[in-house]
Amino acid sequence: MTADPNDVAPAVASLDTIVSLSKRRGFVFPSSEIYGGINAVWDYGPLGVELKRNVKDAWWRAMVQERDDIVGLDAGIIMHPQVWVTSGHVGSFSDPLVECETDHRRFRLDELPGTEGLSQTELLDSGIVARLGLRCPVDGGPLSAPRRFNLMFKTHMGPVEDDAAVVYLRPETAQGSYVNFKNVQQSTRKKLPFGIAQIGKSFRNEISPGNFVFRMREFEQMEMQYFVRPETAAQVFEEWLPRRWDWYTSYGVTPSRLRFREHAPDELAHYAKKAVDVEYRFPFGWKELEGIHNRGDFDLSRHAAASGENLEYFDPATQEHFIPYIVETAGGPDRAAFTFLIDAYREEEVRGETRVSLALHPALAPYKVAVLPLLKKRPEIVELCHRILADLKRDMLAVYDDTAAIGKLYRRQDEIGTPWCVTVDVDSLTDGAVTVRDRDSMTQERIPVEGVKRAILDRLEAARP
Ligand code: ATP
Repeated sequence: MTADPNDVAPAVASLDTIVSLSKRRGFVFPSSEIYGGINAVWDYGPLGVELKRNVKDAWWRAMVQERDDIVGLDAGIIMHPQVWVTSGHVGSFSDPLVECETDHRRFRLDELPGTEGLSQTELLDSGIVARLGLRCPVDGGPLSAPRRFNLMFKTHMGPVEDDAAVVYLRPETAQGSYVNFKNVQQSTRKKLPFGIAQIGKSFRNEISPGNFVFRMREFEQMEMQYFVRPETAAQVFEEWLPRRWDWYTSYGVTPSRLRFREHAPDELAHYAKKAVDVEYRFPFGWKELEGIHNRGDFDLSRHAAASGENLEYFDPATQEHFIPYIVETAGGPDRAAFTFLIDAYREEEVRGETRVSLALHPALAPYKVAVLPLLKKRPEIVELCHRILADLKRDMLAVYDDTAAIGKLYRRQDEIGTPWCVTVDVDSLTDGAVTVRDRDSMTQERIPVEGVKRAILDRLEAARP
């Protein structure tokens, strides 16, 4: 990578730090690990599933719940195969693939060193490999000319496995929102501008997956399609940029590790009029976290023409019929959760020892609070812990742990990002108070037992973006 004077250091130097923490503490495991794993699929463990769920809830709150103009949808993963012909995916949802002639490894041409800045046309030029003198990065062998590799997974629907039964696993959620535009508009009576938001699984047969959950073959997306009058699309597009940036920073991402990157004209997808990525400084470089696209009227016009369905919007105020433009925000909870995890990682020296903590935003932290006994041999202390825990659990995810001494219990909770620990000690039995310890400042406060849940709920509320 060339040295860039504007670059910033990543939050962790090595991805391995996050991969091993994720495995050790139960955020993410390799899929089917006892069979040796399967490339580019990862399983979310007990803590990871909570983190990812919290990320999705935070997105849904900001995009649907707190807005009057956006509604939700959950379309099927399998759609009518014609959808993907019309959308252009069957014809051109592909990456340029090159193959090593000696070890037959396959690579995405645009990810090989030396191909930075090449246009889409150059990437498919049959003479490009020879012209740039590219060789296999693993064994130095000769590489084939590039060819298009379609990224969609195919399967068969119904009991007959012939060509007529071919269907695709969706590579994006967006098409479900386009084909339901009329259903949603008519059932909700929404007027422009309005949006449709979806969270769900998508599948892409990526040529070179990797960097942990950054690029998987099965992943989730959080996409929102905002339908607008054509003449307002350029302005609306600009308005979504800071909104999406602010969502990441309000949940704790360091602003200096974010940047916008506009797509060059020859990099734009076939449907896009303008595209800007929100990029994050991952340990492996600046990479897309989310894309914001002005898609024009491409999607609705194409679906209207191919299906024969009139997808025009009628504006009662101006008495006009027209096809709306679409501004899309396309992100994913896997990349977002990964970013929040990396950016929250802290290592510091505390009394001669290294303290590892995850300074996750309280709304994203898997456990909001841990209840810990100072002495697990005293049944009254344990009993009081369980009473406090049961009360907390009615409102939030809380956990009890007595498998080590208190110092170690705190360190364990710090490492998984639990914002607060409630400790019950011998004095609690007489003064009716417990200690609430803060993860980031490590300060401790004495609070009456009856006030514990209110205090935690107040802190959660105060932290809300
Ligand atoms: P890239 O250039 O990284 O391949 P893309 O431009 O193809 O991404 P989009 O089609 O814009 O990505 O997808 C929207 C979002 O979906 C991405 O910003 C990302 O958060 C998520 N996403 C896409 N592909 C993957 C994947 N293979 N694994 C995990 N998340 C993904």
